[in-house]
Amino acid sequence: MKADPQAQRRLLDVQAIDTALGQLEHKRRNMPEHAELDKLARELSALEDERVRAQVGVDDYDRDIARLEKDVDQVRVRAAKDQSRLDVGTGPARELEALQHELGTLKRRQNELEDAELELMEKREEAQGVLDEVEQRLTSVREKRDDVQRRRDEILANVQRDEEFRRSGRAPLVADLPADLVALYEKIREQTGIGAALLRGGRCEGCRLELSGQEKSRVRVAAADDVYRCDECGRILVRTEESGL
Ligand SMILES: [Zn+2]
Repeated sequence: MKADPQAQRRLLDVQAIDTALGQLEHKRRNMPEHAELDKLARELSALEDERVRAQVGVDDYDRDIARLEKDVDQVRVRAAKDQSRLDVGTGPARELEALQHELGTLKRRQNELEDAELELMEKREEAQGVLDEVEQRLTSVREKRDDVQRRRDEILANVQRDEEFRRSGRAPLVADLPADLVALYEKIREQTGIGAALLRGGRCEGCRLELSGQEKSRVRVAAADDVYRCDECGRILVRTEESGL
């Protein structure tokens, strides 16, 4: 292939932009924020499970307490009824005695129920403490995640701005180059990431290998507009005054 030596040199400018774009792409993919966000998402999901369990614990106690409360109410109502019948004081003595006896039993029952309720309320308090603690941790992890997300979005926005800037510089450069040269460059770049390399001081900057004496003499005699490709890596080897030929 033939191409104007100036066009070959400009290929290096395109390559520099493509290298920068590749680095930006690499930066975008390998941002530590991605891994950090994955980790935080896992942490949040585990904490959500923990929160649900803690909430179930509190709800269970609430249900048990409500049941006891109902039992206490029933006992109270029954005792009040007995008491008012006693207060009226009419009826056979045996019946009044039985009422008196029942009142004593109801009082003991009420005390037992209230003790049990108190115990449950203490346990509920502990369960609520566990729930509060989990919710605090959830809040702090969510805040952390939001911070990391903001940071990630900022970096991504910067990367994108940078990419757009470089792409806007690349387009006119490429438009000016011969289409067949660009096509060859793109084909090699697709395979190896680098399409064109400078020959500097007798070394291909694509593969970093020194050209053999034989290859050097071949390059030396090649016409300036010959598109020369490195024997080692196949990349377009661009010759300038730095080439050391
Ligand atoms: Zn090479």
